[in-house]
Amino acid sequence: MQQTITLLGATGTIGVNTLKVIDRHPEQFKIFALSGHRQFHRLAQQCIRYQPSYAVVLDNKIGAQLSALLVDGNCPTEVLVGAQALCDVASDPSVDSVMAAIVGSAGLRSTMAAVRSGKKVLLANKESLVMAGTLFMQAVVDSEAILLPIDSEHNAIFQCLPTYYSSDHRGGVSKLLLSASGGPFRGWELAHMASVTPEQACAHPKWEMGQKISVDSATLMNKGLEVIEAGWLFAMSPENIDVVVHPQSIIHSLVQYLDGSVLAQLGYPDMRTPIAHALAWPERIESGVENLDLVALSQLDFEAPDQSNFPCLQIAYSAAKIGGDAPAVLNAANEIAVQAFLDRRIGFTEIASVVDNTLLAYKFNEPESLAAVEEADMIARGMAMARVKRIER
Ligand code: NAD
Ligand code: MG
Repeated sequence: MQQTITLLGATGTIGVNTLKVIDRHPEQFKIFALSGHRQFHRLAQQCIRYQPSYAVVLDNKIGAQLSALLVDGNCPTEVLVGAQALCDVASDPSVDSVMAAIVGSAGLRSTMAAVRSGKKVLLANKESLVMAGTLFMQAVVDSEAILLPIDSEHNAIFQCLPTYYSSDHRGGVSKLLLSASGGPFRGWELAHMASVTPEQACAHPKWEMGQKISVDSATLMNKGLEVIEAGWLFAMSPENIDVVVHPQSIIHSLVQYLDGSVLAQLGYPDMRTPIAHALAWPERIESGVENLDLVALSQLDFEAPDQSNFPCLQIAYSAAKIGGDAPAVLNAANEIAVQAFLDRRIGFTEIASVVDNTLLAYKFNEPESLAAVEEADMIARGMAMARVKRIER
């Protein structure tokens, strides 16, 4: 049966890879809506090619530029503008599946709209789950949405768990082992990282990703966010989620069982594999990724994460343990700090201190609504920005 899909964040790395997988199976997927932000030329090309009913952007000026390109390209796609339009195309009754691939907290409302309307939700936007964990997972239960992880580690764990797995029926699962590549600065001392540039931080050795997640991978905050994400997805407390550094990025994560068995999912580091898995689930489709050549690889290495030179991982574990709105605060402060680093206002190693200081100064609450999560996000942003101002070069 053909799936009708809304692709939020179509112009990003995950969005483009999703379209590459869909290109291989055009008869199985129909695009209902595509969204973008600043790259309206790319969004226009995508609309001309896939002819979705709607294209969504956030800004009126960009909307007008996009519309003009679509008229020139003879494309009937209607342009919608604004955050509400993102929610509308995510929850439209004609949509079966939503790929949530906007980066950061900007994806919260639209991802939640998809969840609340009971869609099959392909979750790349981990930040929304980190921010709103309790409300998010309750909405999945209430609406009977199907939540499928796109993050390669979580997709791997999903594949290695028993199909009947739930918090009441764990099937002998004792631990989740999240793999981490270690990022571009693996093995570096903190002092040497003080002067690294955004270009160095974004040059990931194994994965090609957007700027924000690339910096998060370099600080190991990405792994911290993933620990929190895994906690929610698989109803596991942070003490039962370990991180193992595996520089080749071939084993995408592992599940440990009571009897000593450990199941792993392997593949080349290419997001088309988890995307294809989630798009077709519970079937399998070809993704375009080559078969794994174990003999050519010959060796897989593992080491413990370096917590002292990469403090963000530990900071994220503490936020996970505090619970309530602490993960939303962690995420907000991190988004501000990463942007300040990309803008060359603060150094790489100051990202951790901005996040840590914000968490230390914040009074935690249990957010009971999405508005409360957004308020925590806003307050934490203000605090992190003030901190950036104090330390900026
Ligand atoms: P990206 O920067 O390449 O793309 C981000 C997308 O979000 C773009 O389409 C952009 O137009 C849109 N966007 C940005 N700001 C927006 C805003 N304010 N409002 C609406 N849309 C906005 O990022 P990416 O690497 O594709 O990552 C997307 C998400 O997937 C992130 O949450 C990331 O953590 C997650 N993820 C990515 C990878 C990867 O390999 N790239 C792997 C795992 C998880
Ligand atoms: Mg990941």
